[in-house]
Amino acid sequence: MPGGTFMKRRTFLTAAGAAPLLAQTAGARTPLDITAFQPRSMLEVPVNLVERARFPVIDVHTHISFSKDDKNTYNATPEELLAVMDRRNLRTMVNLTGGCGQGLKEAVERYDRAHPGRFVTYTEPWYSRANEPGYAGSQADWIAQAKRDGARGLKVVKTLGLYLRDSGGKLVRVDDRRFDPMWEACGTLGLPVSIHVSDPVAFFLPIDRFNERFEELNNHPEWSFYGKDFPSHLELMEARDRVFERHPKTTFVALHVGHYSENLAHVARSLDRFSNMFVELGARIGELGRQPRTARAFFEKYQDRIFFGTDAVPRGDEFPQQVFGDELYRIYYRFLETADEYFDYAPAPVPPQGRWRIYGLGLPDAILRKVYFENAERVLGIQAG
Ligand SMILES: [Zn+2]
Repeated sequence: MPGGTFMKRRTFLTAAGAAPLLAQTAGARTPLDITAFQPRSMLEVPVNLVERARFPVIDVHTHISFSKDDKNTYNATPEELLAVMDRRNLRTMVNLTGGCGQGLKEAVERYDRAHPGRFVTYTEPWYSRANEPGYAGSQADWIAQAKRDGARGLKVVKTLGLYLRDSGGKLVRVDDRRFDPMWEACGTLGLPVSIHVSDPVAFFLPIDRFNERFEELNNHPEWSFYGKDFPSHLELMEARDRVFERHPKTTFVALHVGHYSENLAHVARSLDRFSNMFVELGARIGELGRQPRTARAFFEKYQDRIFFGTDAVPRGDEFPQQVFGDELYRIYYRFLETADEYFDYAPAPVPPQGRWRIYGLGLPDAILRKVYFENAERVLGIQAG
């Protein structure tokens, strides 16, 4: 019996004086800075790199430009983007942060109109005006104007609920009534809303040795929403739900897997409750790929409610997990298409978010088609270019 052999051998080693020797080795441990620890996996498992997506892709979550009020800065030229897009079978990029006013017009001109079908631009609220009197009343007008200027949807960043403060310094809640006309106008005008509420759950916990994103938060302590006057992650989710509930005719894309990729059961309950809610994957394959069986079941059940998205930022040094380029798309395609095991979820240097690796979902063609482009065509009215 193997067990018997093992017992006998251990007894023998102890009797022979091997135990003190083992203890001595343990005592001579090498101190190692956690940031220097770069273990190389010894697993020899299949590697199936995916150079081109199996079907045309619409990326519903990218940041080609950034806006401040009605002024934009641009992270890449259309030509720089198109080169990567053509290599990777990425037909259309949706630039969520297209700004407003003059900035929006400029972004639409530079990308959407110059390369029809390849780029789609969304508008954003003019946040610095939110505390002006009459703000609520004017929203339907400026949303309609943004649509005339070429915006195909509205993006709301986590400013709402976590950064935007009223004149008294109090955080403005996600379900603040001042924004009701904005959500309503989007429904009436047929502009989908891409909304980012909250952040990874770990950002609401102390930055200590139990925090799964310790290194990321240690590098960016300003990303933490622990303590102070911030609402909890669940309070933000509940405020968001009240918005979904109050505006049933408005289509909401809850970014980053419904803002709760750590808890797909919670996301599933929200999807069951709100037929106007959809999700995308941006910057969360590190969570999905750590729970491949749960994630696969989620994709099977909600295959009509999920869009492909990456949160890609060209030249985004701050967010290494989402720098636009060939490598980013290779990783997303590998995650969705193959059953590969234990691979990096982001371009090097890894790990930007946490020390884990992911497992591919190996989705069937019918689901891949929906996630890559069919759902976006049907729900968001975007045709793959
Ligand atoms: Zn984003």
